[in-house]
Amino acid sequence: MRSVQSRSPQQPDDIVVTVPAAGMGGVVAAVERARLAQREWGGCRAGERAAALTEAAGRVYAARDELIALAVREVGKPVTEATAEVDRTVAILRYYAQQVYDPAGAVHEPTGTGLLYTRRRPLGVAGLITPWNFPFAIPLWKAAPALAAGNAVVLKPAPQATACAMRLFELLAGPLPDGLVEVVPGHASEGQVLTSTTDVVSFTGSVQAGTVVAARAVTTGVPVQAEMGGHNPAIVLPDADLDRAARHIVAAAYGYAGQKCTATRRIIGVGAASEPLREALLMAIDELPCGDPGDPKTMCGPVIDDVARGRMLAAAREARQSGGTVLAGGTASDNLVAPILVGGLSEGHALARHETFGPFCLLQTAADVPTAVAMANSGAYGLVSAVYTADLGHALRFVEELGTGLVKVNAPSTGVDFHLPFGGVKASGYGPPEQGKAAMDFYTTVRTVTVQPG
Ligand code: NAD
Repeated sequence: MRSVQSRSPQQPDDIVVTVPAAGMGGVVAAVERARLAQREWGGCRAGERAAALTEAAGRVYAARDELIALAVREVGKPVTEATAEVDRTVAILRYYAQQVYDPAGAVHEPTGTGLLYTRRRPLGVAGLITPWNFPFAIPLWKAAPALAAGNAVVLKPAPQATACAMRLFELLAGPLPDGLVEVVPGHASEGQVLTSTTDVVSFTGSVQAGTVVAARAVTTGVPVQAEMGGHNPAIVLPDADLDRAARHIVAAAYGYAGQKCTATRRIIGVGAASEPLREALLMAIDELPCGDPGDPKTMCGPVIDDVARGRMLAAAREARQSGGTVLAGGTASDNLVAPILVGGLSEGHALARHETFGPFCLLQTAADVPTAVAMANSGAYGLVSAVYTADLGHALRFVEELGTGLVKVNAPSTGVDFHLPFGGVKASGYGPPEQGKAAMDFYTTVRTVTVQPG
């Protein structure tokens, strides 16, 4: 039987969990259990759903310290960020517990007599496929709205975050009907089975996997959303506070070892900003606290595993061999990779066009604002962009012209507000956005009802 194993990034001989992979039979059985449970849950009154989800939030909160420690151990998330993630997870659950009271439709003027209205209904079983980098928040920002809307959920977590997912769902399951929330540990094949057996699919992960998942769901004919990678630019104008911008950007590029979809991957210095920005960035990198993820001061911990470490070092070598300059980093001690900043690489180079998921960032220059916009918008991705300027006119122009799902002005590219829609465009996202009230729409279908006098 195949198994799933996760190891601590900072201490790879520490095996966090080993469990059998669910296999095709396990996924099908979990979906069947979920389907049965959904019949009961879908018929519950709004108040009952709100009470159960509120109680689940209480259980997650009560396990706060344990969950923080588990995220540090299993995915090497710096403890300060792990704490923020667990707190956000509780807040997301509480937020969606209240969404059940939102209008579930609208009453319209009938063309004739009687009553004409719409009513949102749950879709059935939601199949959730998630990455390892936000081991609690991402599974939950999918599961909570799905449950609030009356669905059951089956989660296929990333192998590297299996223990976090299993513990979170164990806590969640307590106040909910048996079988309503299920976890199927496994790899890509379990994800594929889930995609073909559920009524709605929500995926987060790489473009490569997300494209396969979206195509399969479309073939099956079920609603799908896929949130994928990014190659996120941060544009810095000469009028910006360069030291502040550099500190923001370095935190956004290398915090949690650059392992966020919203991490800054390309820094574009405009005109006279380029030279002083480079100096400010190097100073901020020098001052970035790197090391033990258990230390509250650490911002940049280890990469997830030795494969990721190898990929970072290979990218630095490749940049050097292609005429780029490695301005910082390029070395590693175990899975701790020193933040890599590369300058002078041609815009058409593969590293300048594709996401390198880790502490790897490019420094580019643009002669003027139109060139910076064109550079930022080039390439296949469209998740998030950041711009640093003191000029409101420039800021508003960027907001209009940048081709990304999120735009940040004088703020780091990282950081997401769970009560607003979140989603990329172009290769970064497929289907409707996640989070906020948009999620309640995604996990429901609209029924139009006509009632005539009898
Ligand atoms: P990944 O694509 O390797 O895996 C994500 C999930 O998909 C895992 O559960 C994996 O087992 C599963 N999977 C892989 N191939 C599959 C297939 N063919 N069919 C079905 N399931 C499959 O990603 P990862 O390494 O876990 O995470 C890093 C990636 O996720 C980065 O590209 C990052 O940018 C992206 N990400 C995006 C967001 C976002 O909201 N846009 C958030 C976090 C991470």
